[in-house]
Amino acid sequence: METGGSATYPDWTDALDAVLKGLPDRRDVPCPHCGVRALRIVFVGNPGTQLGYCSLWCDNCRYGIRPSRVLIPDEAEFFPFDTNPEVVASAIADFREVYPDDDVDDEDEEEAEGEQEEQTR
Ligand SMILES: [Zn+2]
Repeated sequence: METGGSATYPDWTDALDAVLKGLPDRRDVPCPHCGVRALRIVFVGNPGTQLGYCSLWCDNCRYGIRPSRVLIPDEAEFFPFDTNPEVVASAIADFREVYPDDDVDDEDEEEAEGEQEEQTR
């Protein structure tokens, strides 16, 4: 049974694999997180080598990954590296990124500073 946040990074890279193989007709790859077939992918890469990185996310649950070192398929459209970052950003939804290391669980990045009391002289 899947509960919230249960999809791991390997689950996502499997989905990425399926999406890459399915391009350009990639509609039937289910999201590893919610199971809905709403995955979106945007590539940014080098037009000469077809190497780059991508953002893969689900339009339904808004989880996703940003793998680097992706070989962009010939049929895929992508932004060249020198594209205005704002243009690239506008093509990518705001999603919660899943990281390879899964033990970063909570997003509260409060520093542990409770014990650091200033000494008064
Ligand atoms: Zn999803």
